[in-house]
Amino acid sequence: MLTYRAPTRDISFILTKVLNASGCLGRDGLSDDLIEGVVSEIGRLCENELTPINRDGDEIGCELIDGVVRTPPGFKDAFRSFANGGWIGMCLDAEDGGQGLPEVLNVALHEMIMSACLSFGDYIGLPQAAAKTLAHHASGELRGLYVPNLATGRWGATMCMTEPSCGTDLGLIATSAKQLSDGRYTVNGTKIFISGGDQDITENIVHLVLARLEGAPAGIKGLSLFVCPKFVPNESGGIGDRNAVRPVRLEKKMGYHGISTCEMVFDGAAAWLVGEPNRGLAAMFTMVNTARLLVALQGLGAAEAAYQNAAHYARERLQGRSLNGPLFASQKADPLIVHPDVRRILLGARAFVEGGRALALWLGLQIDLSESGQTDEARTAASDFAALLTPVVKSMFSDLGFETCNSCMQVWGGHGYIRDNGMEQLVRDCRIAQIQEGANGIQALDLLGRKITAENGRAWGAFKNLVRSDLDASAHLDEIKEWSARLLCALESVDVATRDILQRAQHDRNELGSAGVDYLRAFGLVALGWMWVRIVSAALAGDDKARRSEKLAVARFFFARELPKVEGHLVVAQSGADVLMALPSEMV
Ligand SMILES: Cc1cc2nc3c(=O)[nH]c(=O)nc-3n(C[C@H](O)[C@H](O)[C@H](O)COP(=O)(O)OP(=O)(O)OC[C@H]3O[C@@H](n4cnc5c(N)ncnc54)[C@H](O)[C@@H]3O)c2cc1C
Repeated sequence: MLTYRAPTRDISFILTKVLNASGCLGRDGLSDDLIEGVVSEIGRLCENELTPINRDGDEIGCELIDGVVRTPPGFKDAFRSFANGGWIGMCLDAEDGGQGLPEVLNVALHEMIMSACLSFGDYIGLPQAAAKTLAHHASGELRGLYVPNLATGRWGATMCMTEPSCGTDLGLIATSAKQLSDGRYTVNGTKIFISGGDQDITENIVHLVLARLEGAPAGIKGLSLFVCPKFVPNESGGIGDRNAVRPVRLEKKMGYHGISTCEMVFDGAAAWLVGEPNRGLAAMFTMVNTARLLVALQGLGAAEAAYQNAAHYARERLQGRSLNGPLFASQKADPLIVHPDVRRILLGARAFVEGGRALALWLGLQIDLSESGQTDEARTAASDFAALLTPVVKSMFSDLGFETCNSCMQVWGGHGYIRDNGMEQLVRDCRIAQIQEGANGIQALDLLGRKITAENGRAWGAFKNLVRSDLDASAHLDEIKEWSARLLCALESVDVATRDILQRAQHDRNELGSAGVDYLRAFGLVALGWMWVRIVSAALAGDDKARRSEKLAVARFFFARELPKVEGHLVVAQSGADVLMALPSEMV
């Protein structure tokens, strides 16, 4: 069975020493001590409440019985613990039922949740994302009724976009909405793959539904956003009549069994419009962007759990001898950890997880600063960074998360393939992250086709300047001079490739699609390298010698074995669309 120790020390180090979160945010009452306290409390909760339910979540999963989904044993109690601790609404304002903590701490929360029990994460993340969406886009009354109930964990939430004939292309949504004479709306249609579509954890479920009003334009410009509750709230805000929305099927999945994945039928269900008619997609994107970061953390969290269990196993399992002769001569064999290839896997996992953790937390900080930055300029810059890096993090973390879980399973050899040991669950569970919230190929298109070029490349220009100025700031550190120089070269290579691909795309838009995935990985590796420079700089400035040598060693691995991959990805990204598009469809 898998074990998990929340890496609270490393998370706190990154938040306080690498990113200086409290200094950057400058919020009253937010101190390093508070950050460390929050991180350690959440870590304790994840270790004690979630690790023990992870296996039943997989083995027993959810069941649809008499029209109601039963969640796996322990999920309800664990949810209550998070709700009672105030962790669901932690980032909402006090008047919305929240704690007013910064989003960056929610990133830490979700990394640890995903490590301890990945399939539990959506039960927390969905009401958080729905509350944020309604706080931004709903009218006063709607907001006042729903947001506090979501923030306190009384009510759960879903995001209802996908339909049988509509996945990536939301313009195909067929679910319809009709306005009644009393101003309310009804929704009709079928949504599939709805996470948490039904569950027995909360007393009500708030479905956020994309639907098309009668007479609305075709495509995405005709979509409106509706709140459609499982139980219609009564006049005092309590639970009223059962609404005409129900789960009709529970999907059987490869993994991720603890979260229900439902086909939902809306059969004239009462609903309320959120924001303006036909402006629903923009509003729903508040939820989607929040969810994209959480999906990235599925990859990161699963990789951390896989690393911990693989490293432990590699130290215990005796097989073979070191290539240079026995290192543990008194034992009948050396432990796996002496083998270079096992170390390649473990150090690769650490290089991704620790660099990725810093990058995810930095992104969380940008989300905070986009709202609370001191000046308009600061808010715009932070919002640009968040928009630019969200597809990078979503896609790269879910890809590397899966690759890391898979390679850490390899460390367990045949025992990794055996269900009882838990490693294969991590591989199955985290695979979804590459698909949901916009498949990874779509993230790559979003990066190259929209985010890089937005406002004449403003965000990309600012990102390059930020990386360059951080490298300048650490130029005096002998330990990282060479790495900084290599990172600068890699950044310039990405810049050159960006111009080249965009220029070709002026004649053929397929250049974006053919370059996208490799381009995104090259960009992401540069961003990870940048974080490793910051991590090592902070470690060198501190007095913890063990941390200093560990971080230097992992950074050395990153710059020797991961950063060089940038050039290869860029060569592929620039190989041209014709390589992919020349053959007629029937011959591919
Ligand atoms: C377990 C699970 C949970 C989910 N939870 C939710 C949820 O809570 N709410 C919700 O609304 N949906 C949910 N989904 C749906 C999920 O977001 C979609 O499956 C996903 O967006 C892809 O849509 P699709 O499956 O229809 O694939 P398609 O759109 O048919 O795409 C298939 C593949 O083709 C590629 N592709 C498609 N279009 C393009 C393009 N324009 N350019 C390049 N490549 C392209 C993509 O790589 C994709 O992988 C969930 C799905 C699963 C499996």
